[in-house]
Amino acid sequence: MRLLVVGGGGREHALAWALRRENPDADLYCAPGNPGTADLATNLPIAADDVDRLADAADMHGIDLTIVGPEVPLARGLADRLRAEGRAVFGPDAAAAQLEASKAFAKEVMAAAAIPTAVSRTFQELKPALAYVDRHPEPLVVKASGLAAGKGAVVCLRRAEAAGTVRSMLGDRAFGDAGATVVIEAYLEGEEISVLAVTDGREVEILPVSQDHKRLLEGDAGPNTGGMGAYSPVAVATPELLERTRREVLYPALEEMQRRRTPFTGVLYAGLMVDRRGTPWVVEFNCRLGDPETQVVLPLVSGGLTESFWRVARGESVTPIARRRDAASVTTVLASRGYPEAPEKGAAIHIPASLPHGVTVFHAGTTRGADGVLRVNGGRVLNVTAVAPTFAEAQRLSREASETINFEGRIFRRDIGWREAARQAAPAV
Ligand code: AMP
Repeated sequence: MRLLVVGGGGREHALAWALRRENPDADLYCAPGNPGTADLATNLPIAADDVDRLADAADMHGIDLTIVGPEVPLARGLADRLRAEGRAVFGPDAAAAQLEASKAFAKEVMAAAAIPTAVSRTFQELKPALAYVDRHPEPLVVKASGLAAGKGAVVCLRRAEAAGTVRSMLGDRAFGDAGATVVIEAYLEGEEISVLAVTDGREVEILPVSQDHKRLLEGDAGPNTGGMGAYSPVAVATPELLERTRREVLYPALEEMQRRRTPFTGVLYAGLMVDRRGTPWVVEFNCRLGDPETQVVLPLVSGGLTESFWRVARGESVTPIARRRDAASVTTVLASRGYPEAPEKGAAIHIPASLPHGVTVFHAGTTRGADGVLRVNGGRVLNVTAVAPTFAEAQRLSREASETINFEGRIFRRDIGWREAARQAAPAV
């Protein structure tokens, strides 16, 4: 089997790692991959959003199955293109990827399918948007509708801040075309979880549930980032909650996409806010695996991933994906000083030759120069994932291993999983 993973971040390293584990003899390619995937696969020097060259590469290498990591190539029609050429591809086509690429569209789908989500309105004109902000209760959330690398949602405590955000998006085009349409919505309270469901368009196979940490600093302070760490499983995600998520969120969304004749296949990622009553409210839909969630979710998968991807990619039914129930995982993101605005690049990275049992380092923003030295090449540099029998042990292992990996300007959160730790310290009565 010839497999191609599209993307070059920590998510794609984890994907390549999981695929390699299930398929020791496969020909595995990554485009563009990173120094981590280079140990498992053949990296192809093609940008993840270069649809034409990716299609050519799939042809040239006779790829049987392409798995697309990031959202941008999906929104640009990479899956449509490969399918049109008769190739199996795991990921939605461009019309279905609108569930992520247009928050305005996602809100329409949710309204039509009566999916629990924050009340919202969509605007393209400044004046009515400001008038809506003016009568909206605080806090409120202003979102650029288009793709903004996870940075297009601004939670505003005050209407004045929301008005400023609306002006910068619609007036000054601070987010370019992504902010030409804005969604203004009510603030949801609760605990956020990431539900990743592999789907053939009708049935779903829910992967281990995880929780991301979006803020840069410990205690969930500081600016929003692409994600500073994650853990799985999450105690909040009880079997009852997942059953409600299936019935009230995933099935209705998939049915509505069918009804619109743009069936969704691939990974439907529901970002949920779980309120005190245990109702799952949708914060966002994504059309692919999460980053850094994948780096904790896939290490807990014990079989059936490739088979499920392969079947879904060929229009067949999704098959069971086995998981480890005897383990927990935690990943800590090592970022570079200046992240998320202007991360420093170029520092040499030192990873100990041997890491503790259960620890895997997934590369993200790294590069290996002609001198063979591994160097910092992006904001999120490495993901230090630990798998252990208990959450507490995984948390400790991830944190301790992170301390032993060094580069100038290294920053990381030492409190990944703090909510779970607090829950375990004081179990609910
Ligand atoms: P999004 O780009 O829609 O995923 O939003 C990014 C982050 O902003 C989410 O992960 C939440 O932490 C936060 N957020 C977005 N919408 C809401 C909302 N309606 N209520 C509370 N927090 C939100």
